[in-house]
Amino acid sequence: MNKKSLYHFPVVMMLSASLLLVACGNEEQKNTKNEEKVEEQNITKKAEEKVATETKEKEKEKVKEEKRDAGGYFINQKPVQKEHYEKGILIANKVYPMPKSFAPGESKEARAAFNKMNTQAKKAGFELDAFSTYRSYERQVELYNNYVARDGQEAADTYSARPGFSEHQTGLAFDIGEVGNSADYADDRFGETEAGKWIAAHAHEFGFIMRYPQGKEKITGYKYESWHFRYVGKDIATKIYKDNSTLEEYLGVNG
Ligand SMILES: [Zn+2]
Repeated sequence: MNKKSLYHFPVVMMLSASLLLVACGNEEQKNTKNEEKVEEQNITKKAEEKVATETKEKEKEKVKEEKRDAGGYFINQKPVQKEHYEKGILIANKVYPMPKSFAPGESKEARAAFNKMNTQAKKAGFELDAFSTYRSYERQVELYNNYVARDGQEAADTYSARPGFSEHQTGLAFDIGEVGNSADYADDRFGETEAGKWIAAHAHEFGFIMRYPQGKEKITGYKYESWHFRYVGKDIATKIYKDNSTLEEYLGVNG
């Protein structure tokens, strides 16, 4: 290196440095723009992903709905670990079964309400009989298997719940008939009797609802049962009775 170039060296260095800075500045601007673009793309992507997830969920629901067998049960439904409460109310239907271990026994509150109702029924001239209330999972296994052996599964599914799906396992379901008329126990004819008509009109005053009303089969998943009542307490029972609705409609759940 000669003297002249030695003199110029720092200038060259400074020039190179500032050029580098300018270059970096441009790079920074470019980076900011790129980041904005990436951000925009991310927002779009997220929105698209959300729509995709929602569509998937809807499809899943649809598939779930379609995957029911002739009895109205989901195909290959696995046993559940816990019973289901909706708005604090125990719900048992074909969508919400109970585990084998759920064995609360007959509800004392429901029994007391039934006794009160019976006192009033007697005054009206009818003596009521709760001929089937709490049924354990094991008892339902026996019953269901007997029905299947007798009539075949398809027929059995139309009138008997599979084990884990019977509302009787909740201890809150009461099958009611009239003392002296056991011929109409668990029979459509009960709804046509004076006792059947009286209980249909008054059960809500004591906290019971007719659980499977006529014309609501698609909502509850069960055919009309004039004898099957479910204890839900006076307020909810009165609301459901006055709205001419069902427990599923009241809770906003599928049956
Ligand atoms: Zn019943």
